[in-house]
Amino acid sequence: MSRRLVKMMNTLTRLRRASCEPGQILLLLPRCIQHSGCEQRIANDIQECRRCGRCKVKDLLEMSERYGTRCAVATGGHLALELARDEGVRTVVAIACAKELQEGMKGIFPKPSVGIINLWPNGPCVDTDVELDRVEAAIERLIKE
Ligand code: SF4
Repeated sequence: MSRRLVKMMNTLTRLRRASCEPGQILLLLPRCIQHSGCEQRIANDIQECRRCGRCKVKDLLEMSERYGTRCAVATGGHLALELARDEGVRTVVAIACAKELQEGMKGIFPKPSVGIINLWPNGPCVDTDVELDRVEAAIERLIKE
């Protein structure tokens, strides 16, 4: 059910032709995408990432810099909502599990958002992954439309 809802919300965002300046897009990462052996405190400040490449935080951070979007790590649903509700944020591209996305996207509605369900090569909540091309396509669509 969660997956279907995320898909529906994504379609809705597309139909609404949501668009904005890159700096008004928030790219939101889940804490579990950080490598479990990494001790950098990226939840406080994503710039703490040393870009070693052991996890996708490096790629996502570089992607956000390339497009000029905001980028942050959410340690939980509550913080994610707080970050997404910031006045300067017009749209959100969020990476998380289907359940978190469903709650978050509903929580910030009517603010447009795109949810990208993460991958679990090691099971839930640890060393999760994401398809970078899907994240990039979502950002490009929001900037272009
Ligand atoms: S890419 Fe960044 S967050 Fe990931 S393991 Fe390396 S320093 Fe840590």
